[in-house]
Amino acid sequence: MSTTERTYIMVKPDGVQRGLVGKIITRFEERGYKIVALKFVQPTEEHLEKHYADLRNKPFFPGLIKYMASGPVVAIVFEGLDAVKTGRAMLGATNPLASPIGSIRGDFCLAVGRNIIHGSDSVESANKEIALWFPEGITEWKSVFENWIYE
Ligand code: UDP
Ligand code: MG
Repeated sequence: MSTTERTYIMVKPDGVQRGLVGKIITRFEERGYKIVALKFVQPTEEHLEKHYADLRNKPFFPGLIKYMASGPVVAIVFEGLDAVKTGRAMLGATNPLASPIGSIRGDFCLAVGRNIIHGSDSVESANKEIALWFPEGITEWKSVFENWIYE
């Protein structure tokens, strides 16, 4: 059964530089997801090493940290039905070339090392990532559209 979840979505430095922040947020809003946290931030390498701790032994890790620290990112928490798995489907695959047309990576990028957006891969990762990027917490609110998005 699907439940209301929160997922951590981040527009990476290339997505910010390419002016895709608005388009990316619009896709989630239009689908029915609600923003419960959002900020524009220049992440440190140390912070990114925590975010990507599971990948620290991968050969691409140093390049990944450098890329992710190369400019500001937009950190967002979206809330809604099945937000984690559906959020990942909206992103597409890790490799943009393997991402379906209509997904964010499938529509806006080409290279795995410049794939413009991050999305949590499980509820457990989402909880960890939300705590890491928003230690101040999220903001709960009730959308007036709620009864038109959910039965
Ligand atoms: N990445 C890369 N080369 C690879 C695999 C991943 O540069 O061979 C980068 C890519 O930016 C990816 C990020 O590392 O988004 C995190 O990898 P992960 O496997 O968690 O993919 P994601 O969850 O972002 O789809
Ligand atoms: Mg991942």
